[in-house]
Amino acid sequence: MIERLELALSRAKRYPDLHFAVLFVDLDRFKVINDSLGHVAGDRVLQLVAHKLQQLIRDTDIVGRISGDEFVILLEAIEGIHEVIRVTERILNEMTVPLIIADREVFVTLSIGIVINCTAHHQASDILRDADIAMYRAKLKGKARYEIFDPIMRLEALKRLHLENGLRQALEHQDFLLYYQPIFKLTDQEIVGMEVLLRWQHPQRGLISPVEFIPIAEETGLIVPLGLWVVRSACTQMMAWHRIFPAMADFRISVNLSARQLREPNLVQQITEILNQTGLPGQNLVLELTESMLAEDEEGVVALLSELRSHQIEISIDDFGTGYSSLSYLHRFPINTLKIDRSFVKRMQGDADDNAIASIILALAQRLKLSVVAEGIETATQLHQLQTLGCEKGQGYLFAPPLTAAEITARFHAQYSPHVLNHDSIPDVNAAR
Ligand code: C2E
Ligand code: CA
Ligand code: CA
Repeated sequence: MIERLELALSRAKRYPDLHFAVLFVDLDRFKVINDSLGHVAGDRVLQLVAHKLQQLIRDTDIVGRISGDEFVILLEAIEGIHEVIRVTERILNEMTVPLIIADREVFVTLSIGIVINCTAHHQASDILRDADIAMYRAKLKGKARYEIFDPIMRLEALKRLHLENGLRQALEHQDFLLYYQPIFKLTDQEIVGMEVLLRWQHPQRGLISPVEFIPIAEETGLIVPLGLWVVRSACTQMMAWHRIFPAMADFRISVNLSARQLREPNLVQQITEILNQTGLPGQNLVLELTESMLAEDEEGVVALLSELRSHQIEISIDDFGTGYSSLSYLHRFPINTLKIDRSFVKRMQGDADDNAIASIILALAQRLKLSVVAEGIETATQLHQLQTLGCEKGQGYLFAPPLTAAEITARFHAQYSPHVLNHDSIPDVNAAR
């Protein structure tokens, strides 16, 4: 592959009318296939995909497997970009036909990065790097698609690297901040807990959203120490509130966990240590996981969650309904709560049809005796619909956006009598007697 690529490159430099293109093809969620169906099935998927790719290109083109689930295709003597797009679309289209693996239908999608006009490159490895960057962009944009390399992307890859270095420093200096979004009981709109949301306090750029930096923290493994910092800070803050506002003793604090953290062998020990050190009871802590995190290493995750449950820590499934996973896992994993994804709540605009998914999730939760939290409630209509469907709890801008600890404290002062005031009032009451 590399030899053919070098050859094509030097030929294109000598004959400027001779164009070629490179496609960097990566299987989406291949790890999930491997983990759920086994490595033998994974190998078979690779073989079938390789075969399909081979059939979709001309005899004079070449496809090579350059690592685990990555293929590279060299298209030579092309007329122009339209021809390359045609081939790419044919490949993506062909993948909508399921692969048959041991009598099962398996759907595989591909992310493809394309480099054309390769003469600006000096060697094959430069082309592969840029095709890889474009492929990565296709993944970020939602997978099962292609992206054509643009030099701007190289700049963005550099920016990413920069962000990654910044993240390491931020962790050292603890330049992070927690926001708290109250979770309400929908019947009487009382606060019953809070979700902890992380922000990066960047010295130059100000607050950076987790959407921007969590993926990088996950990829680099920085999420492991960062995630523990979140748990520790949240538990400490919660205990401080418990002390001032005894009425909050039942409040639960929800912390988001990343897949990467679940794979840490001593996660449970680290979390229970934090509980012991801060004094927060396990039942006051909720861990939010996503469905896809349950798909990998099922037995391991069941054991892990059961261990967390044995410390009374609750398990909540975030963004429920968006994970394309089989519902049967609800029986196998010790789960307490389903969070109805924002996208389903957003759709609730008064029409019964718009409520279909939320209402099915609620019925499902009822049957399985799980509690439900609706996310992203923004309008009174949505609240009303959810109340009618019997939804227990919710969060969203209608009630409160994520707030700083100081803002939460102020809210609680207005709502609950703090301990200090209770104390002050006791001598008064005694004096009156
Ligand atoms: P998520 O867990 O789904 O968190 C809810 C997101 O919805 C938050 O965005 C919140 O600000 C936003 N939100 C709340 N109410 C509304 C509403 O009414 N309408 C709309 N449109 N949005 C609302 P945020 O804070 O930007 O967090 C984004 C994601 O980042 C979170 O999604 C979560 O997946 C991740 N994240 C945040 N903090 C952490 C963390 O400490 N660890 C990990 N691993 N992930 C985190
Ligand atoms: Ca969440
Ligand atoms: Ca969510």
